[in-house]
Amino acid sequence: MTTLPSLESDLRRRLTGVRGLLLDMDGVLVLRNALIAGAVEALAALDAASIPYLLATNTSIVGRGTLSLELSRAGLSIPADRIVSAASAAAAYTGRQFAGRPIYVLVAPDARAEFDGRLLLSHDEAAQPGARAAAVVVGDAGDEFTPRNVQTAFTLLRGGARFVAMHKNRWWLTPAGVMLDSGAYVAALEFGMQRRALVTGKPSRVFFGEGLRLLDAMLGAGSGAAGPAARLAPAEVAMVGDDLWNDIRGAQKAGLRGVFVRSGKHGDVELTRAASERGGGPPDAVAPSIVEVVAALTG
Ligand SMILES: [Mg+2]
Repeated sequence: MTTLPSLESDLRRRLTGVRGLLLDMDGVLVLRNALIAGAVEALAALDAASIPYLLATNTSIVGRGTLSLELSRAGLSIPADRIVSAASAAAAYTGRQFAGRPIYVLVAPDARAEFDGRLLLSHDEAAQPGARAAAVVVGDAGDEFTPRNVQTAFTLLRGGARFVAMHKNRWWLTPAGVMLDSGAYVAALEFGMQRRALVTGKPSRVFFGEGLRLLDAMLGAGSGAAGPAARLAPAEVAMVGDDLWNDIRGAQKAGLRGVFVRSGKHGDVELTRAASERGGGPPDAVAPSIVEVVAALTG
């Protein structure tokens, strides 16, 4: 097995051929609402080197516009069109699969903006007897996870709607304490339906596919080129993240490279576990933080 020191020492060689990046947010650019040291300069260096990157996050409680605003208040300038989120991936996926057909989206109002222009059933419309939806999409709905709305989702699923979940996170940490996350509601509906939801956030293939598509669009727009010449192969894109399963394993399964940074929640214990479990393996590279990854790419 590849030893961890070699994963860290050969960073430049291990990143050879990488032409685009997906960057996780928590643990890579920010940690507990504070900027990670050097993150702003790292993004500036990527811009200067014309290396396209996207913020790639499972956030689904707000839309990308609000997320971009929140990041700018924290000191990071990342426009909404340079973000791929579990919510935006769900909107893009359902837009392709169910174009022009009504869908029921159980998500907080801000994230609903990702579905602007789409035919969305209101809670009341969806609860009407005989209502039909092409898909039920579940995200971070917060206070909208009422018994009535969850029952509505179940009824529509029973009526043949496809089941889409933005992610299946169990819980999350808020200023008010530990909160039950939307994954628990997804699990409840899966239990009732005896059917799995299709997940659009990390670590799903849908998510990384959407990231690649947006990076391709950025490359095409930047160079003025169009068509296949501008396209990135999955292996030319590295996902930089602090979660060995959602970020690293998910990216590798989708054919991207997984670059683990130690600036977030996982460390040696998780590295060893991820490398030794069935179907697992080491990341393609390991670095202390985003700073070293960008230095290796641009230096
Ligand atoms: Mg993270």
